[in-house]
Amino acid sequence: CGIVGYVGRRDACPILIKGLHRLEYRGYDSAGVALVNPDGRLNVFKCKGKVSDLEHFLDGKDLGGNIGIAHTRWATHGVPNDANAHPHYSESENIALIHNGIIENYRVLKDALEQNGYTFRSSTDSEVLVNLIEYVRATSGCSLPEAVRQALRQVIGAYAIAVVEKGNHDRIVAARQSSPMVVGVGDGEFFLSSDAASIIEYTEDFVYVGDGEIAVIDRNAPLKIVTLDNHDAKIDIKKLQLS
Ligand code: GLU
Repeated sequence: CGIVGYVGRRDACPILIKGLHRLEYRGYDSAGVALVNPDGRLNVFKCKGKVSDLEHFLDGKDLGGNIGIAHTRWATHGVPNDANAHPHYSESENIALIHNGIIENYRVLKDALEQNGYTFRSSTDSEVLVNLIEYVRATSGCSLPEAVRQALRQVIGAYAIAVVEKGNHDRIVAARQSSPMVVGVGDGEFFLSSDAASIIEYTEDFVYVGDGEIAVIDRNAPLKIVTLDNHDAKIDIKKLQLS
């Protein structure tokens, strides 16, 4: 299981697929990718099987976009199938999320969302989180990073997540708790991964996202990291060289 992300000027999809291949050693049963087109369209492609199966599935699809997130899944809640593969859309399809880990209190969160009219397309714990983010945003009108922060404050569990949204081809919001996550800082571009080794070919500058921290990865702005209780975290860029 692993997550990869990219935002910058290059074509995102080949970078994401290459990153997924590098994370295959971690084990997985499904794979998928979400891309935001330059015109703001949010496209999700996912399937059960290997990264090579995903590549076949992507053949002939609209893969444009300089921003995207990608995932390999190790099923914990819901069988390995296409619907349970990540990324998961929110109900309105305005937000897409990938998640490694377990949302322990997903049942109570899901019940509350269902009472508010939300329906679910998968049996994963992860889909609950993307709808919770959408719900927080819809009810409070806050920014996506703030909605992610408020949603995560309601979550008990372990996670590495990344989120993109329709209409925003500049920004990925990512967060982690008890699961690894690193941001690679390039020149006008950022990389995101569960494992620095999978993106070392692009940059030597890494920022390790701390437990309970949310990274706002915007190609037009310096990297910003906030804590779950809304304090700015220090950005500590580490040089990493693997030879
Ligand atoms: N709990 C999530 C699921 O079953 C994520 C599993 C993972 O870590 O890949 O879909």
